[in-house]
Amino acid sequence: MTTSWRVPFGDLRRSHQALTADLIAAAGRVIESGWFILGHEVAAFEQEFATFCGARHCVGVASGAEALYLALAAAGIGPGDEVITVANACMYDVAAILQAGARPVLVDVDPATQNIDPAAVAAAITPRTKAVIPVHLFGRLADMAAITALAERHGLVVIEDAAQAHGAWRTGADGQPRMAGQWGNLAAFSFYPSKNLGALGDGGAVVTNDDQMAAQLRRLRMYGWERKYYTSEVGGRNSRLDELQAALLRVKLPHLAAANAARRERAAWYATALADLPLGLPVDEPGHVYHLYVVTLPDRASRDRLRDHLLANGIGCDIHYPVPTHLQPAYADLGYHPGSLPVTEDLAGRILSLPMYPELTYEEIMLVAETIRAGGIW
Ligand SMILES: *Cc1c(COP(=O)(O)O)cnc(C)c1O
Repeated sequence: MTTSWRVPFGDLRRSHQALTADLIAAAGRVIESGWFILGHEVAAFEQEFATFCGARHCVGVASGAEALYLALAAAGIGPGDEVITVANACMYDVAAILQAGARPVLVDVDPATQNIDPAAVAAAITPRTKAVIPVHLFGRLADMAAITALAERHGLVVIEDAAQAHGAWRTGADGQPRMAGQWGNLAAFSFYPSKNLGALGDGGAVVTNDDQMAAQLRRLRMYGWERKYYTSEVGGRNSRLDELQAALLRVKLPHLAAANAARRERAAWYATALADLPLGLPVDEPGHVYHLYVVTLPDRASRDRLRDHLLANGIGCDIHYPVPTHLQPAYADLGYHPGSLPVTEDLAGRILSLPMYPELTYEEIMLVAETIRAGGIW
């Protein structure tokens, strides 16, 4: 491990450099207002983010994890219900499903895109299945045309986990681009600092076109209150986006589309620089926003060798994620075992995330590529 990176895996100071004055002004505005919880800034951000996603409602909440739980609660998912999701997205979804009192049913992913496999979803549907949570992993939309068609046929609620996919899109059946948040009944977003749209702390949102669910989400995030000190909802909690984070997000949102375009440009640089190596590169499509740039190696040994080589040479890299949910000791009693999800398990041993952020320079990407090439892995 080096102390000073030649190419850091992430660097949020760079992303904020050009925005520092605006961020400080926004924070100052909130401090001077004397109003810190559910005020003008949250309402304005909700409006702006709903518009960005092309949805009717956005409800700001405390985090992406909370957004997933609250979306399940608003959809009426609870004990006795089964919810289908993936095991390659770091436990967030399974944790939320268990919090809601429902049973997580884990299915395998498509080997090329690493997103939920619609055929596996179809095979996992039982009379108790109430919802499916596709994760738009690494910034690429899941096969939402297939998932929403299945959901319609079986009366399932679709909750998009869009925590890695702000601004990602795919073409719908009508030939029009449809954004993350426009496909499901509900979509959960995270504004964790390193996401494509990140706060300067924790934050999240649920996006929906459903008026009733939006109203219920607003109650659930604040103790179940209908209005101050009056409740009509059991099971409310405190899960609010705060004014300060909303004000900071309002500074960053207008730059999201350009930041996503910059990520795509960097993905193209990588693809050219790495083309002749025996690495599996991400499957590109125009609406992929590259939250992460994840390559696949031939096997676990070569992946581990390349990771060690890059880290030893000051190139940041990471594994998203090293142990699938169903093989985590905490979730052993879900009833899965090694071999239950062969594609998910195989990929976990072969993936490696390279540095990817809008401010990464061309020279840095060339240095990453040269370092990979010099590694003698092949
Ligand atoms: C980051 C993330 C979450 C959780 O978001 P937090 O804001 O950190 O709670 C959920 N799902 C996915 C896919 C994520 O990447």
